[in-house]
Amino acid sequence: MTTPLELARDESLNRFRSWLRARSLPATPQRVAIATVVLGADHPLSAEEVVDALRAKGPAPGTATVYRTIDVLIQCGLVVEEDRHEGFRRFQPVRDDVSTEELLCTACGHVATLTVDGLASDAAAAARKAGFVSVRHRLVVYGMCAACRALRESQTNEAL
Ligand SMILES: [Zn+2]
Repeated sequence: MTTPLELARDESLNRFRSWLRARSLPATPQRVAIATVVLGADHPLSAEEVVDALRAKGPAPGTATVYRTIDVLIQCGLVVEEDRHEGFRRFQPVRDDVSTEELLCTACGHVATLTVDGLASDAAAAARKAGFVSVRHRLVVYGMCAACRALRESQTNEAL
């Protein structure tokens, strides 16, 4: 069973990988391990807590490496910084804070924004009819992006 927290974490990890890929940055095992801990946390973590969580599973990266990866996560918009005046920073995963409509390629993880005029108000109206007050919504269309389809087609043609 996948929990909603794991589902949110995996979605964020896919976005992180796409973001890295789009910038030709490697999704190193270390980066992915750090991102998995930060994005899967149910409370804001400090860099030291991230190191501790990784150390429990094996060789852990240093705090500087953790900070560098977290900075990338912040640039991606997947993590926000929190200052509780403790003398160090904590990092909170961003989850579904805004309504989104997206196209997600299940082959390469590419995420694109889907724009449907009136969708947000239609969804809110339908929710209201069901006695529901809509706060935000999320629509993900899963499929294959144009690049992956073209690749798949060229491979099929070669096989013929
Ligand atoms: Zn694709």
